[in-house]
Amino acid sequence: MDRFDVIIVGAGPAGLCAAMYAGRGMLNAVVLERGIPGGELLNTEKIEDYPGFESILGPELATRMTDHAKKFGADIRMENVEGIHPQPGGGFRVTTSSGAEFEAPTVILTAGGTPTKLGVPGEAEYAGRGVSYCAVCDGAFFKGEQIAVIGGGDAAVEEADYLTRYASKVTIVHRRDAFRASKVVQERALRNPKIEVLWNKKVLEMVGDPTGLKRLDLEDTVTGARSELAATGAFVFIGFTPNSGLVKAHINHDPSGYLLTDDRMMTSIPGLFAAGDLRVQLTRQVTTAVGDATTAAIAVEKYLTELKSRAAV
Ligand SMILES: Cc1cc2nc3c(=O)[nH]c(=O)nc-3n(C[C@H](O)[C@H](O)[C@H](O)COP(=O)(O)OP(=O)(O)OC[C@H]3O[C@@H](n4cnc5c(N)ncnc54)[C@H](O)[C@@H]3O)c2cc1C
Repeated sequence: MDRFDVIIVGAGPAGLCAAMYAGRGMLNAVVLERGIPGGELLNTEKIEDYPGFESILGPELATRMTDHAKKFGADIRMENVEGIHPQPGGGFRVTTSSGAEFEAPTVILTAGGTPTKLGVPGEAEYAGRGVSYCAVCDGAFFKGEQIAVIGGGDAAVEEADYLTRYASKVTIVHRRDAFRASKVVQERALRNPKIEVLWNKKVLEMVGDPTGLKRLDLEDTVTGARSELAATGAFVFIGFTPNSGLVKAHINHDPSGYLLTDDRMMTSIPGLFAAGDLRVQLTRQVTTAVGDATTAAIAVEKYLTELKSRAAV
């Protein structure tokens, strides 16, 4: 069993930033990542809201963050974490699908989450070329264009309203005849002259050409009638699953599974910190992920110092 000061689970922007600060703080840290380091940056075409980079390709920012963390000694291992087990006397045992085990008094959980996909033909093909799961990230690429929002909850209706600041028209495609979104959010959106709603419609296929998405093929969920909707953008907001289930003990979270932390990013389990997309917060961006991670890594240093001084008394 390998022992460390801190185990960082996930090497997206939050994990890589935490690794960089842990290295600078001379902590013996390991980063466990199930795939290639970079997280959602690897699924992002262009990033235009990360300070210092007016425009940078997601994979390039991922490489830069990885190299930067490694410069400060990050030990990144390809491991798929299966469980984070709090130990009776404090500290954690982390198990992975390869059978490896890691131990540390602290863990920073930065495993992000996954936007729910519609699972229709064309969705994966046009991801990043019209299909998006993040209005703040990609809205500005659709100035003056006609776009669609798929979903009927708070996120879908709120983001449809937000997207009208860029798009000439936003059509909400919802498979039922009423929204689940809160009343105040619905009323604001329905008053917006740039928003139209197509009730009882589901997306059958996303269709485009080599330049990107061009239209959605729809089916009426009541009559079965088929129709087409011209759209160069399709924003899918049908849910997001935080990867918080790795913790094999009760941990405070909101109804959707996002983890609650204090202002040092510590969860309800002492020594377990959370940063980035899986944490309860107003927005989920690269900047907020690295901000959380900075706080978490520095809080870990202070936590370990307190543990040592308590043990010495
Ligand atoms: C399509 C898209 C476009 C976006 N565009 C922008 C943008 O333009 N600007 C912006 O600021 N934000 C953008 N975002 C949001 C931004 O990418 C996220 O907020 C950010 O990546 C969150 O970082 P994170 O480290 O918390 O999580 P993630 O980036 O999700 O990284 C989590 C990492 O944990 C790993 N992991 C998960 N489970 C395990 C496990 N069991 N074992 C080991 N490793 C695990 C994953 O493989 C992943 O590498 C976009 C998001 C998407 C989906």
